[in-house]
Amino acid sequence: VYSKGGNEDIVMFSQEITLEDDVVGILELGLSTKKTIDYLEEHKYIQVKREALIILLIALGEFLALSYIIIRPLSLMTSAMKDGADESGRIVKKLPVLSGDEFGRMAEAFNSLGDKLNAAHERLQSDIDIADEELLQTNRRLIKQSKELQLVNEKFKRLSITDELTGLYNRRHFQELIQSDIEVSIRYGNSNSLLLIDVDFFKKINDNYGHPCGDQVLIEISETMKISLRKTDILCRIGGEEFAVLCRQADRVDATDVAEKIRTIDEKSAVMCGDDRIKCTISIGISTFDGKDKNLNLEAIYRESDLAVYHAKKSGRNTVVHYDDLSELDKTG
Ligand code: GH3
Ligand code: MG
Ligand code: MG
Repeated sequence: VYSKGGNEDIVMFSQEITLEDDVVGILELGLSTKKTIDYLEEHKYIQVKREALIILLIALGEFLALSYIIIRPLSLMTSAMKDGADESGRIVKKLPVLSGDEFGRMAEAFNSLGDKLNAAHERLQSDIDIADEELLQTNRRLIKQSKELQLVNEKFKRLSITDELTGLYNRRHFQELIQSDIEVSIRYGNSNSLLLIDVDFFKKINDNYGHPCGDQVLIEISETMKISLRKTDILCRIGGEEFAVLCRQADRVDATDVAEKIRTIDEKSAVMCGDDRIKCTISIGISTFDGKDKNLNLEAIYRESDLAVYHAKKSGRNTVVHYDDLSELDKTG
């Protein structure tokens, strides 16, 4: 039943009350639709807010749960992994095992992986250390061998240019040196002199005192010449009991002075060999070249000095003869 009373719509409900099929009364109920609608309108927003609040609380709860269960272990692991390895690459930090769930197992697996990596790192490092040490030793050995080789090379080079008995330059090296002096002389016109020195009656020394004493005499003559000559002069043993000196920047007079000096010292000195006191003399032939002859060559200079020695021997030995002092007849032979 719908009726309108006053300002509001009233909905009427009517229900008969029966007792054993007899109608004993009527129940009537009036409901104001306006008031009901107002009430519902009013409570509608409260309900919505409540539900929104509940949803919010549930979301917050889920977020907190999520944070605790997932994000917190993840951030703990992340901070543990930061700077987790030192400069050498060794893993120095462990992940915290906070729970027995997947994160806990993951942390354990990570830590065990770190242990294995560290062990492998140690092994590798020790292998590297051993290899380093071996390399170092090989290097030292190589440096030592290289130095030895260098010494051997130097010794070889020295041996290849020196006379074994006296330590003077040998003939081959002397020839190389004098060759370049000839070229300089031809170019600049400076005077150099070649002295050929031959020990007098050396065979007799060997015969009288023995070969070793003969050697000793050769050594002593070499020493005498070494200390008597200038540093720029070049001294060599040509072979046997013959020596040669290249006196640089020495003209005929200078060279003759040098030769006389050597001859005199030798004449005055004696060589002790055992109980024997051995005296000997030398003959010296000189040739001076000043570069005026553009066809100058070593053989020609040798020939001149040799001829001078020959005449020194001929004129009684223990003598100095300069090629330029020979007569034209002597020169042509
Ligand atoms: P001269 O006055 O004419 O030069 O006579 P010499 O005896 O000196 O000359 P000769 O050429 O007849 O003899 C040279 C000797 O030198 C012969 C050789 O046995 C000796 N001799 C050569 N080389 C060596 C050496 O290295 N050591 C020794 N002890 N003797 C040597
Ligand atoms: Mg000789
Ligand atoms: Mg001789």
